[in-house]
Amino acid sequence: MNFPTTSSEFFAKVGKTPLVLLKSISSSVGRNIYVKLEYQNPTGSVKDRAAVKLLQDAIEKGLKPGGTLVEATAGNTGISLGVLSRLAGYRLILFVPENLIQAKIHKLTGLGAEVLKAENYPDNHPKHMNSLAAIYAKEHDNSIHINQMNNLVNQQAHFETTGPEIWEQLEGSVDAFVSGAGTGGTFSGVSRYLKKVSDGRVKAIIADKQSSGLHHYIQTNGESFDAEGESFVEGIGKLGLVDNIRDVLTLANDSLQISDIEALNTIYRLIEEEDLRVGASAGVNVAAAIKVSDSLPPGSNVVTIIPDAVDIYAKKVFSKQWLIDQDHWDKIPEVYRKYTT
Ligand code: PMP
Repeated sequence: MNFPTTSSEFFAKVGKTPLVLLKSISSSVGRNIYVKLEYQNPTGSVKDRAAVKLLQDAIEKGLKPGGTLVEATAGNTGISLGVLSRLAGYRLILFVPENLIQAKIHKLTGLGAEVLKAENYPDNHPKHMNSLAAIYAKEHDNSIHINQMNNLVNQQAHFETTGPEIWEQLEGSVDAFVSGAGTGGTFSGVSRYLKKVSDGRVKAIIADKQSSGLHHYIQTNGESFDAEGESFVEGIGKLGLVDNIRDVLTLANDSLQISDIEALNTIYRLIEEEDLRVGASAGVNVAAAIKVSDSLPPGSNVVTIIPDAVDIYAKKVFSKQWLIDQDHWDKIPEVYRKYTT
């Protein structure tokens, strides 16, 4: 990774990512599926966009040089803030889920962040890592809780950058936007922008992973966040509402749930047919975009996000042993098995 060496270089390099047509997949489904390559941001993920805005917001709220940023993150926000906070001269304390992939934790400590593991609780629970981050910031001077879940500056970053970039790159020919939601910043900010400029014509669809309750919440029109099981997909999924996804019932036209095996086979398909090496949540996004395209007229343009690259997930996605242990191996077509060892 070519990390920037000054904070101004970081700011300059964020965004303006390519939007590419999945040529082989699009021709097989008869609709155009475009992906926004967010791993081309300076630290390798979509979260650089929100991190820049959130840091600026913390400074505007009174964070002094040398102060401490505190945040709860499943990894990529931590990597963005890790690089950015050092360059801008701030200390960084991160609360992370206890089951976070070890490679991400090493990456975070290597960047200079102080990492504290938190048990898994539903969003809004007093022991959820987000609450722990809020309490930590309250108890320490010159500390600020970044609060990507509830600070609307997060989705504003996507309303001001990701959304307009997609609209301009397709010269307004967007029919549907498909995305998972972690904080909801990407989904809400982009959907809000695309609906605004298209007078509500662009459809916004949530791509949910297995084990998340967001799909059920949308399908039952807000009744509950029923969910069970686990998923290897990191960075997306919700078991409760936070401010950056609060309007999801108004914003989302529909939702789809994608199983882990569908996400995995989509990751292999993207390597096999498109020469793209994408992360787990991108597997969910593209699998959902393909399904969404099925319900749209031929020639429609469907856009989705590639939040990060496969690198961090390689130990799982390309490990035959892990795939066997997870009972996925038998469901992986022979043609994709060459990517595993
Ligand atoms: N995919 C990955 C890999 C992520 O780290 C994130 C950020 N949590 C997302 C998707 C979702 O982005 P957002 O927080 O904007 O909903």
